[in-house]
Amino acid sequence: MFPYDRFVKFEELTTLLRKAADAHPNLARLNPIGNSHEGRPIWCMTLTHFATGEALTKPAFYVDANIHATEISGSVAALKLIDTLLSGYGKRADVTRLLDTRVVYVLPRVNPDGAEWAMADKPKFIRSSTRPYPWDEDAIEGLEAEDIDGDGRILMMRFRDDNGPWKKHADEPRLMIRRDPTESGGEYYRIVSEGRIKNYDGFNLPVARVKTGLDLNRNFPEEWRPEGEQVGAGDFPTSEPEVRACVEFINRHRNICGGLFFHTWSGVLLRPFGTKPDDEMPPEDLWVFQTQGKKGEELTGYPAISVFHEFKYHPKEVITGTQDWLYTELGSYAWVVEIWCPMREAGITGYKYIDWFRDHSAEDDLKMLKWTDATHKGLGYVDWYAYEHPELGPVELGGWNRFYAFSNPPPHLMEKEVEKFPDWIIYQALMSPKLEHHSTKVTPLGEDLWRIDFGVHNTGYLATDVSKLTRKKKHVRGVIAEITLPDGATLVEGKARIEGTQLEGRNNTATLVSFFPGANATQDRARFTWIVRAKRGTKVQLHAAHDRAGRVGAEVVLMP
Ligand SMILES: [Zn+2]
Repeated sequence: MFPYDRFVKFEELTTLLRKAADAHPNLARLNPIGNSHEGRPIWCMTLTHFATGEALTKPAFYVDANIHATEISGSVAALKLIDTLLSGYGKRADVTRLLDTRVVYVLPRVNPDGAEWAMADKPKFIRSSTRPYPWDEDAIEGLEAEDIDGDGRILMMRFRDDNGPWKKHADEPRLMIRRDPTESGGEYYRIVSEGRIKNYDGFNLPVARVKTGLDLNRNFPEEWRPEGEQVGAGDFPTSEPEVRACVEFINRHRNICGGLFFHTWSGVLLRPFGTKPDDEMPPEDLWVFQTQGKKGEELTGYPAISVFHEFKYHPKEVITGTQDWLYTELGSYAWVVEIWCPMREAGITGYKYIDWFRDHSAEDDLKMLKWTDATHKGLGYVDWYAYEHPELGPVELGGWNRFYAFSNPPPHLMEKEVEKFPDWIIYQALMSPKLEHHSTKVTPLGEDLWRIDFGVHNTGYLATDVSKLTRKKKHVRGVIAEITLPDGATLVEGKARIEGTQLEGRNNTATLVSFFPGANATQDRARFTWIVRAKRGTKVQLHAAHDRAGRVGAEVVLMP
């Protein structure tokens, strides 16, 4: 259905998504949720079996990818999910049940503009959006990362400097390692990104201010902080069209019970909070996250960790994104998948995420290089070659090609990597609450007088309002039951519309040997009762609806 050994640009992505939707009219619909800064549609594929009910009448799971410009393997993972669901329907029991009873929204490319720059013939790697921010003018000085020799790669640039912090590894001169703290008198280098230097004075080498300084994942409303506190945050929460479109979409689709956001890289499954410790989370919600995380570890081989506790860029700084917004504001369980961990692939043990970048051993670098040489066929690490730089004079270009060596899996390993995730997403989506009809009962009370009992239940694992945080914030109402009577029939007792409570799921069921007493063995059920005056044989319509758990209807005929 889709290629998995290369990245596709926007136009091809659009064609592929249209084809997939056209080939499965009963299971898939493609719609834009809005437009990017440069006017490209942000596509959303709605996946459900439409014959069993419209999307909004079913519990939903939301997946998006590629909000960060160079993290394009996220798009590939989103395509793999679409493929798995469309080709698995009718063949796999879990996929069939998922699309019959629930809906999955997949947005393969939230930031089409930035991705287009990353895939250009002369690529430009930026964090997110192509909109200039915070200022519109070009930098007047400094180093600007650029493919200066026109080979389609942005590598590293090294040049000799007696006070430089880098040196060649003694056994592997291609590899650059740090100079020891007290070492002097050797052959040392400075290393910067491949690029041109504006207004170089021959002495200072500042990095030019990046004109495209936005980070769309910092533009969400939850704990939004201005630029000085959170780099790339944007002018105000949802100031960017891509983020505004996602936030509005998720708010309009109140059936969304959970979400997953594809990023790269590090090979981890990240859960909230980003800004607070676990003990500030309702314990019941933490237990659900732990259940999901355990399954995720089993299915993907990635560790499941908290952003706050284990994935901070700096121990004193916190970050936020879509994930914190979806869980903290709306109470829907939310995960970030950071696809791809080259360190683990290379056999490095004890890799501790972000800390590893600040400090790791030269042995780790050697392992990485050896593995990259063996698997990437020259694509991941480039041997240094001479280049006459217009500002610096003779330099060498080479080193890590981070786009392939780190930011994304190399093309030939991509499919193997992205096929780890659909099963975990299916598992999470099937955990959602699901409102179903339990029973109806008609009892004659006398001449043309009838009692109607309408029983519904939640057959999902999670409660109808999904999390304790939702319940605390009262973000969703309980089950709403309605009775519709034909002309000539009257309601004697009971309201035409009744708001019921939330229905529990099975997630707080302890293991049997713990013998904790339960308050009520049927907290997953609700019964609505009306007394109606109508002629024998009258047909009455009953409905029950819940924003997240779906809708059900039943017809009863008034007969003894
Ligand atoms: Zn990212």
